[in-house]
Amino acid sequence: MSINPHLSFDNTAIAFASKSNAELRKTHFLFSLMNQTWLVRIGTGIISTALKLHLPIKFLVKKTIFAHFCGGESITDAQPTIDKLAESNIQTILDFSAEGEESESEFDKTTAEQLKIIEYASKSDYLPFSVMKVSGIASNDLLESLQQQVSLSQEEEQAFQRVRDRFQSICQKSYDLNVRLMIDAEETWIQEPIDAITYEMMAKYNKERPVIWNTFQMYRHDMLDNLRKAHQTAVAQGYWLGAKLVRGAYMEKERENAEEEEREDPIQPNKEATDKDYNSGVRYCAENSSEIGLFAGTHNDKSSMLLTQIMKEFGLKNDHPNFWFGQLYGMSDHISYTLANKGYNVAKYVPYGPVEKVLPYLFRRAEENTAMAGQSSREYLLVKNELKRRKHSKA
Ligand SMILES: Cc1cc2nc3c(=O)[nH]c(=O)nc-3n(C[C@H](O)[C@H](O)[C@H](O)COP(=O)(O)OP(=O)(O)OC[C@H]3O[C@@H](n4cnc5c(N)ncnc54)[C@H](O)[C@@H]3O)c2cc1C
Repeated sequence: MSINPHLSFDNTAIAFASKSNAELRKTHFLFSLMNQTWLVRIGTGIISTALKLHLPIKFLVKKTIFAHFCGGESITDAQPTIDKLAESNIQTILDFSAEGEESESEFDKTTAEQLKIIEYASKSDYLPFSVMKVSGIASNDLLESLQQQVSLSQEEEQAFQRVRDRFQSICQKSYDLNVRLMIDAEETWIQEPIDAITYEMMAKYNKERPVIWNTFQMYRHDMLDNLRKAHQTAVAQGYWLGAKLVRGAYMEKERENAEEEEREDPIQPNKEATDKDYNSGVRYCAENSSEIGLFAGTHNDKSSMLLTQIMKEFGLKNDHPNFWFGQLYGMSDHISYTLANKGYNVAKYVPYGPVEKVLPYLFRRAEENTAMAGQSSREYLLVKNELKRRKHSKA
């Protein structure tokens, strides 16, 4: 039984209305490859090595997996994707993907690109947020030292001041140009300084409206409590809490790291516990909608459906300006297109950047779409069903 009787995510005709038969066949081919666990395992290794050796495979990657999950290599490249999504009332969040950078000059370049995105977004009706990872403007070592509260050398103090200046300039521009800014959540061992600096900026810029949004990974067993505490602090200090709720992307890494370092595992005991806290978190935000803005970043049908029902229960309009649904570009179109069709605020992360730098992101997407425990991936089945439906509706 559907949680919301007025809504169904099973209508693949709505989900894939914007795709031609040829595009759908290409998507089907791609997902059928990603559905093969062994191929993804071997393929990711081969692609990384081939690109490092400058073998001519960039073109192939660009035409296939990159084209499916990314908007292009630059902001301008991504404009046709923004336009296409906008035709179906779906907004875009440009996500400059440059992972694993560790030099000051790269941090400055990323800052400049973030500022460029905010300027670009301020001139568009379809770019309501920008998004960033603090590890894109700060070194992982520095973030770890801050978390461990070890005393910093003079050089580290200076590096930290530069991080604060970069972060401040991005937040200031977001506020000045009225583009909301989302801060992604990362690994637990660097998350505390990310939270600290983000809440400092929220206190400064979220007095009138939620401009800066932090991310809550509900696969962490302490996160529902953290959400409540962040809300209480925001209320006490008189600012809006912007909250993006996700389940969390680094589960295996977190568990391995905790075991290696003989720390308590920060992750929930099982998937059910994560789901339960995710849904409780979403409800908590709706209950406090006059103080919290919610962005539900999820591909989970039930949680998305549940939020529509909760919004109704609390009398929140479908297009309430502080309530958002978010999916990644190239995934869960059945959720994005259906919700947008019903007038909900939907935004897709559209990553862009040089092919080589987007690879870690692409590999995470490929791994997510492999067959699990003998079951084909959800995306693969949806595309397959729609192809079947089109074939039969023609007959
Ligand atoms: C718009 C958007 C923004 C995002 N931003 C971030 C971000 O800033 N930081 C981040 O870390 N991730 C982010 N993610 C990724 C997200 O955290 C999830 O990895 C991904 O969306 C899959 O979760 P799901 O809610 O879609 O649903 P599902 O597919 O139902 O859930 C899968 C998730 O459940 C959890 N899980 C699975 N098995 C177990 C288990 N045995 N025990 C406990 N938990 C389990 C894991 O988190 C896993 O990823 C984002 C996703 C979206 C759509």
